[in-house]
Amino acid sequence: MSKQFDVVVIGAGPGGYIAAIRAAQLGFNVACVDEWKNGKGGPAPGGTCTNVGCIPSKALLQSSENFDQAGHHFADHGINIQGLDMDVGRMLARKDQVVKQNNDGILFLFKKNKVTFFHGRASFAAKSDTGYELKVSGAAEETIGAKHVIVATGSSARALPGAPFDEESILSNDGALRIGDVPKKLGLIGSGVIGLEMGSVWRRLGAQVTVLEALPTFLGAVDEQIAKEAHKAFTKQGLKIELGVKVGEIKKSTGSGQAGVSVAWTNAKGEAQTLEVDKLIVSIGRVPNTIGLNPEAVGLKLDERGAILVDDECKTNLANVWAVGDVVRGPMLAHKAEEEGVAVAERIAGQHGHVNFNTIPWVIYTSPEIAWVGQTEQQLKAAGVKYKAGTFPFMANGRARALGDTTGMVKFLADAATDEILGVHIVGPMASELISEAVVAMEFRASSEDIARICHAHPSLSEATKEAALAVDKRTLNF
Ligand SMILES: Cc1cc2nc3c(=O)[nH]c(=O)nc-3n(C[C@H](O)[C@H](O)[C@H](O)COP(=O)(O)OP(=O)(O)OC[C@H]3O[C@@H](n4cnc5c(N)ncnc54)[C@H](O)[C@@H]3O)c2cc1C
Repeated sequence: MSKQFDVVVIGAGPGGYIAAIRAAQLGFNVACVDEWKNGKGGPAPGGTCTNVGCIPSKALLQSSENFDQAGHHFADHGINIQGLDMDVGRMLARKDQVVKQNNDGILFLFKKNKVTFFHGRASFAAKSDTGYELKVSGAAEETIGAKHVIVATGSSARALPGAPFDEESILSNDGALRIGDVPKKLGLIGSGVIGLEMGSVWRRLGAQVTVLEALPTFLGAVDEQIAKEAHKAFTKQGLKIELGVKVGEIKKSTGSGQAGVSVAWTNAKGEAQTLEVDKLIVSIGRVPNTIGLNPEAVGLKLDERGAILVDDECKTNLANVWAVGDVVRGPMLAHKAEEEGVAVAERIAGQHGHVNFNTIPWVIYTSPEIAWVGQTEQQLKAAGVKYKAGTFPFMANGRARALGDTTGMVKFLADAATDEILGVHIVGPMASELISEAVVAMEFRASSEDIARICHAHPSLSEATKEAALAVDKRTLNF
C-alpha cells in the first residue's frame, strides 16, 4: 500500500518548503517532494531561490561589492591597498558554501517539523478515493497518496528562440552564477531585476557590460523618477544600456580560438548593429515549471502561459489541489511564494490565510539598491488618484555621508485627501532594508504624518524615510 499523507507539497523552493513547514505546524502529516540535485547528485532543497537565484546572486553581489569598494572607495577612507587581486574560484566556492548552508538548513527544518522529504520528481498519477495518487521518481520509484496537494514547482529561465542556453557562452541565471573567469566583454539581453544584478556582479569584477533592452524605457515597472536616478548611477558606473532595441540573430563564434557570441541587433533609431561578446546572459523572463508534472492525468488546468490556473486563494480547478509561487500568476518573488505557501496551509486547516498583494515589496540588489512598495506615480496618475509626493535625497542624510554613499532618494506618495501612504520608492544605500518600514506602515494603513511623527535613530539612513514623509507636507527639517 502506498504511503498516505494529509498534504503533499511538490517542490521545495520558498513556496513549497514554507508551505510544508506551516502545514506540519498545523498538525498535518506532510510530505514534500523535490528533484533538485546538488553537484554530488544529493538533494538540494530550496529551489531556484536557494540554488541559482536569490541566495547565490546575493553572495556574489556582496563579494563583487567588496572588491569594488576595495578598488575604488577604500582610498577615500585613507586605506591604501597595493596589488589588489581577486580569486574568482574562491568567490564561487564561498557562494556554493552559502548555498549549501541553506540547503542543509531546509533539510534540518524538515526533520525538526517532521516533514517527510522525498528526493525525486513528483507527477500526478490519478485521482483516488481519498484524494490523489502521485508518482515519485527518484533513486527508487514509488506511489504516494495525498488528501491535499500543493504544487510549488516554480519557474525556469526563458531562452530566446534560436539561441538555447548552453551555459558556456549563452547563459541563463544558472550559468551566469558560475562563470569561472571574468569575461572581458559581457552581453546581457534584458534589463530586468535578474539581468541588472548579474550585470552588476561581473561589471564590478572588471567585465565591460552591454545591456540590450527591448523596451523603450528603463525599468518600466519602477517609479519613473527612481528609475531615472538609477539609470544615471548605472551609466556612471560604466554599464552600457541600450533601450528600444530589436535583437536579431545570435551566433556562437570561435574567432581567434576564443569561444564567444555575436548578437545582431537594431538600435532605437533602426540602425543595424553587432555586439561581439565573450559571454551572453539572456534574462528575458521566466516560464512556469509544469513539464513532467503530468497535470493531464487529473485534469489540472493551466493558463495560456502554461501557469497553473488559480483563484485569489491559490485554489486550482480541482478540489484540494492548490498551487503557489512562480508556477501561478503574480510577481515571481520568493517572499510572495512564501506568503502564498503559508496562506494555503492555513486555508487547508480551515483558517483565513491572507496575502496582501498591495504590500509586497520589490527589491533590486544593485548598487544603488532599488526598492519599492505600493503604487508608482505613473500608476496613480493613470488611475486618476489625487496624491501628494515628498522626496528626500540621501545627499542630505548624515549617515549616508558617513558611509560615503549618498546616491539616490526616498520618495513618498500619499493620498491627497486622507494622507494614507500609497507608495514608497527608494533608490540608494540599503534600500532593501529601509523598505520594510514602508511595508509595515502600509499594512497598518498609516499616513505619511504617522511616519513623520515617529522618532528615528540618529544618525541612520532611516531618517531619510522620515524626512521624505515630512516632505509630503513640505516641511523637511534637513533639506
Ligand atoms: C538570479 C535570480 C535572482 C533572484 N533573486 C531574487 C531575490 O533577490 N528576491 C526574490 O524575492 N526573488 C528572487 N528571485 C526569484 C525567486 O527565486 C523565485 O520567485 C522563487 O524561487 C519562487 O519560488 P517557488 O517556490 O515558487 O519556486 P522555485 O524556487 O523555482 O522552486 C521550485 C522547486 O520545485 C522543484 N520541482 C519542479 N517540478 C518538480 C516536480 N515535478 N517534482 C519535484 N520537484 C519539482 C524544482 O526543482 C525546484 O526545486 C530570483 C530569481 C533568479 C533566477
